[in-house]
Amino acid sequence: MMVLMKREATQEQIEAVREAIHEHGMKSLPLPGGERMAIGIPSAIPPDLRPVLDTVLSAMDGVDQVIHISRPYKLASRDFHPHDTEISIGDVRIGNGHFVVMAGPCAVESYDQMIESAKAVKQAGAQILRAGAYKPRTSPYSFQGLQREGLEILKAVREEVGILTVSEVIDPHDVELVAQYVDILQIGARSMQNFPLLVSAGRSNKPVLLKRAPSATIDEWLASAEYLLTQGNEQVILCERGIVPIDRTYARNTLDINAVPIIKYHSHLPIVVDPSHGIGHARYVSSVALASVAAGADGLLIEVHPHPERALSDGAQSLTPEAFERLMAQIHAVRTALTPALAK
Ligand code: PEP
Ligand code: MN
Repeated sequence: MMVLMKREATQEQIEAVREAIHEHGMKSLPLPGGERMAIGIPSAIPPDLRPVLDTVLSAMDGVDQVIHISRPYKLASRDFHPHDTEISIGDVRIGNGHFVVMAGPCAVESYDQMIESAKAVKQAGAQILRAGAYKPRTSPYSFQGLQREGLEILKAVREEVGILTVSEVIDPHDVELVAQYVDILQIGARSMQNFPLLVSAGRSNKPVLLKRAPSATIDEWLASAEYLLTQGNEQVILCERGIVPIDRTYARNTLDINAVPIIKYHSHLPIVVDPSHGIGHARYVSSVALASVAAGADGLLIEVHPHPERALSDGAQSLTPEAFERLMAQIHAVRTALTPALAK
């Protein structure tokens, strides 16, 4: 529910509306607009209270309209947070016009593989190193990741090379552990609706990269983001990584490029795109990466492996360091074409 005040509403009238909301046991969130104030109620309102609040608030001085919001998310919505969220991690900023590239192998395989990857992606201009220590694999016989040893390697490489890291957490009980080793917690596509995991990650103070599940609607995805936000974690980055395709002959998934402008319109959270899982074949990754940049994504998550043919997972979609370097130059060209000020 949101109360839209009249343009000429006074500060006293605004305060009176907020007090009335508090007297009914609800929280209020002032939402200053360009010309007038709105007051949001950023949590679920018990059904029997809704008509009462509607009647009480509509009749108050200075109130223009009481708007009912039927979407399954509020804090993730621009209605409740009109300005872009900006996330700062060390020197790196994400969202609100700040573009970020996260790159690296699908999985941590060895110290040597990670140090080589980290140096290569940093050299090409990536700000964040990606790699999974815990791998959610379709088959239990596939490589499951080096787990704790993988986290140790990531941390050592992070310090040696001087690069931030993002890595997946699968189990709600591991959130604290993974948070001690990495800069950003990744919640994978398969875990998007693992609600205990979302609650646990929402309680940590680490930024969270929330991937979209392959069959999730935009509303379901933002409702999952809402789980993180309602726990107090405001550092949420959304990641589009492809949805279920009608045909897997040529591509692993269908990258939903529509999601980029749709999310930017309806939410203030940064959205990055993972073209690697989105299309699934290295030869196509650059094309869809560039399309994502042109569509307005706040960043990219790209799989890069020093020896893709030897990768223990997702080698077919991993770029070589050379291909990644070429892509980084193209990304810069697209961004500069869209925002000439970047050329300076
Ligand atoms: C990954 O990033 O390697 C991964 C497992 O991605 P997703 O959850 O999108 O399948
Ligand atoms: Mn992968």
